[in-house]
Amino acid sequence: MPYRSADNLRFWEFEIFQQYEELTCLFSTIQNSDSKLNLGFTKFADVDEVRKNRELFFNAAGTSADKIAVGKQIHSRNVRQVNEPGLFDESDGLITSKKDLSLIVSAADCLPLFLYDSVEKVCAVVHCGWRGTRDAIAEEAVRLMLESYGSDPGNIKCGIGPSIEASCYEVSSEVADQFDRRFLTPSKNDKMHLNLKDVVRTQLEKSGILPENIEVSDICNKCDEENYFSYRREGDKSGRMWGLMRINP
Ligand SMILES: [Zn+2]
Repeated sequence: MPYRSADNLRFWEFEIFQQYEELTCLFSTIQNSDSKLNLGFTKFADVDEVRKNRELFFNAAGTSADKIAVGKQIHSRNVRQVNEPGLFDESDGLITSKKDLSLIVSAADCLPLFLYDSVEKVCAVVHCGWRGTRDAIAEEAVRLMLESYGSDPGNIKCGIGPSIEASCYEVSSEVADQFDRRFLTPSKNDKMHLNLKDVVRTQLEKSGILPENIEVSDICNKCDEENYFSYRREGDKSGRMWGLMRINP
């Protein structure tokens, strides 16, 4: 089962990472006992409620606010190596080999990508929106794992979490023109459907990741209202889910 409950929260998990006892990897759903679990300080968010939700999330995920590394996501291709907790400027990807340091990726439609090398013991989280994907941030993350941590691409396992499916992701011709035609299918009014999950998967394979070491969630967060927020579905009122990856102490 892809879902696990902890402290009244429901998390989505990858099968590909289940075999590693030393690793924690999960993605939040909105399911919470009293209100939807929004983890982002978005325009319409209640600040106190988000603070409370983050505490619930940290507890259920077996960590605390002082052991978290969060990137300020700006739809860039910036991947940062981190060795300590904190908020990191202009970072859509975070990599660490530090134990007990939980890396966070925030998303609501964008792809949360998780990477783990169980030999060198290095993990990474990446926020892949269309801009970061166009700029191949997934390839940048793998490159850094190879160059800075000595990873062999054959040892890296990857998970692409619940995120928007092509059939729900209509983009303008201006955006579509920035992607290879094979990832596009025609929609109405000159628009196109863009398959971001496939773009990211292809970039990972180009970087040397073995196809069998890539798990792609078939969940579309826009369709699954019961479990996920969606920016495309809810607009500015949409909350945010958090993904977490940690090498346990
Ligand atoms: Zn959908």
